[in-house]
Amino acid sequence: MTVTVAQKKRIIARDGGFCLLALNVCTGEAQTTDHRANRGSGGAGDRLDHPANLIAACSLCNGAKAEAHGVTRLDLIERGLIVIPDSTHEKTLHRAMETPVMALDGRLFRLTGFDTREQVTPA
Ligand SMILES: [Zn+2]
Repeated sequence: MTVTVAQKKRIIARDGGFCLLALNVCTGEAQTTDHRANRGSGGAGDRLDHPANLIAACSLCNGAKAEAHGVTRLDLIERGLIVIPDSTHEKTLHRAMETPVMALDGRLFRLTGFDTREQVTPA
């Protein structure tokens, strides 16, 4: 199973229609979704097609993210847009659920579903 077009549209709407990655190649408007933690190889990675692991992205950032390194990569990790894989897909998914994503306006959200996200109240 992969992420369907209908599911991608819901993720894009959930995230406000704009690409959250905002890399230097960014076109702004989101057309696709990006996996915060890579699925890697093998069928078991389907678990990571969960909405908590998906964010709205533009096609160019989606392609460029894999090559992000150094401070660019650290920035993506800090904004919750890259989630480092754990030892199992299940643990990785749990990590994605617990790690808030930073919206373009700086607000933090936990991703809870295809249509829902929950704002994290600053401590
Ligand atoms: Zn972008």
